[in-house]
Amino acid sequence: MSAIRIAVEGCGHGTLNAIYDSIKRTCKINKYPPVDLLIIGGDFQAVRNLRDLNVMSCPAKYRALGDFHEYYSGVRKAPMLTIFVGGNHEASSHLWELFYGGWVAPNIYYMGAASVLNFRGLRIGGLSGIYNVRHYAHLHNERLPYFPGEIKSIYHVRQHDVFKLYRIEEPVDVMISHDWPSGIEHHGDLNELLRKKSFFKSDIEKGELGSPPARSLLNKLKPRYWFSAHLHVKFAALVDHGNFAPLVEPVTGLADKNKVTKFLALDKCFPHREFLQLLTIPITKPEFGLSYDPEWLAITRALNPYLHKHPSVLNSDAFKEAIGPMIGEERMWVEENIVAKGRLGVPENFRITAPIHEGSPTAREDRMPESYVNTQTTAFCELLGIEDGTKFAPGSEEKEERYRSFVANGAGSYLRGGRGGGGRGGGGRGGRGMRGGGGGRRRG
Ligand SMILES: [Zn+2]
Repeated sequence: MSAIRIAVEGCGHGTLNAIYDSIKRTCKINKYPPVDLLIIGGDFQAVRNLRDLNVMSCPAKYRALGDFHEYYSGVRKAPMLTIFVGGNHEASSHLWELFYGGWVAPNIYYMGAASVLNFRGLRIGGLSGIYNVRHYAHLHNERLPYFPGEIKSIYHVRQHDVFKLYRIEEPVDVMISHDWPSGIEHHGDLNELLRKKSFFKSDIEKGELGSPPARSLLNKLKPRYWFSAHLHVKFAALVDHGNFAPLVEPVTGLADKNKVTKFLALDKCFPHREFLQLLTIPITKPEFGLSYDPEWLAITRALNPYLHKHPSVLNSDAFKEAIGPMIGEERMWVEENIVAKGRLGVPENFRITAPIHEGSPTAREDRMPESYVNTQTTAFCELLGIEDGTKFAPGSEEKEERYRSFVANGAGSYLRGGRGGGGRGGGGRGGRGMRGGGGGRRRG
């Protein structure tokens, strides 16, 4: 039996240099061989340049360029394969370019809104964003330029992506989500957690800590490991799948799954924080490199036509019955057109899209990023023979117009991280009002 050496890190928060240094140091101190794979649990902040900061949801005082741009521009290279999911503080338009997953820099792979990958025989699933009931049933309608409300809603988990992950029937080794599966705190040392984070108490009492969809995925998929971040505290838990009633949805029809899930949440990479865990995972089928997952590709082919349709379509009993055979059919297509042709490997096709950062890291920049069609996404959609869902731009011209008048009315001050945003219709608060007007379409 062989094994994979993994480093798991909590939130990234733009501190890649410190994270890689810590791994190197920890391996040296513990006489541990180099790790094969680093997993980062979100808040990665793939900020390519100063404009990207203007779509990152973040208080002004924390809005910093970070060191990702050095990896993006090629000044540095990630010393190990690094994969991550998105959190709630992200260069959101950059991640949207790679909705299906892709390289944000050489050796650094974003898992997309949701996906499953294989690395040397280890099957890894990921769900990006955090749960918010208000936007769960919404479509992925946020398009540049973003209104303030969209800067927040864009990172909220969507039902479409959870529905896809829920269709997985084959065993998953590792799942990654930014926020914790709800109720997970009851499977570990809750008292110790409350000693560290007493302000979780009321959320826990109300059953509101964590993500219900992530929990329903945990109950269904029963992965061997589940890694999360977000709450900036280390917490370990053990979920015995033979021993509890599922909290969210009943689990049906799954054979031969793992009986226990080891859950681990980690902190961000700051001094004196518990942000890093090294572990060795035994694998039975050693394969090489990072590759696409045939079952996931089939699910994506089956469900991509519904990406921009209201999720109530997915929820009908008739659709839930039909989707299994649809995925089965697409699986045959995937086997024939991708697996048999040796096209499962994730290509190393990173290309710079937005300009690299030059000049002072603290210079002032008020513009939003441009919208880019990422050639990796084009290549992925061509491989799968699907329509590129990131291109879909509902009413984009009309939106440009509304956005221009929004900024012309002075409400665009939020672009500067709230600096001087207090006047002119209430600044940040005014932005909320504007969102009500601007975002009406999303309710329709
Ligand atoms: Zn964080």
